[in-house]
Amino acid sequence: MVEFCDGCWNRAANQMALADGATASPWPEPDGDDVTFLEPPTCVRCGRGIRICPTVYDRWVSLSTAELLAKDVPPRFRWRLTRLPGRRTSVIVDVLAVRVRAIAPLPGELVIPAHRMLCAMEQSEEGWDVDG
Ligand SMILES: [Zn+2]
Repeated sequence: MVEFCDGCWNRAANQMALADGATASPWPEPDGDDVTFLEPPTCVRCGRGIRICPTVYDRWVSLSTAELLAKDVPPRFRWRLTRLPGRRTSVIVDVLAVRVRAIAPLPGELVIPAHRMLCAMEQSEEGWDVDG
């Protein structure tokens, strides 16, 4: 496995983030002592609910809160969530967002679309051409 120094790792991670559209701001970690309710995040552009998830390369992506069939989501917007066992406890799990790339999902499989796709739909008058 290739070892990166911090500078090289950051450059590589930023390139992956740009290619994937994983450019969301990190969602604050819940503070154990803070009992105030955290509002679910919403998109600043369209106001829809979003889910902000960390990626495997330490960048954050904003995803739709609902899954869609793979056939309705262009390949570059397809994501999946992977659950990892928590590092400190067996109860809490970390959820990582992973771009679906190597193996194309079946048309009827569910994927999580990047919010960018839905946001673009909102912005464009004709809507997103999901069949194209
Ligand atoms: Zn939006």
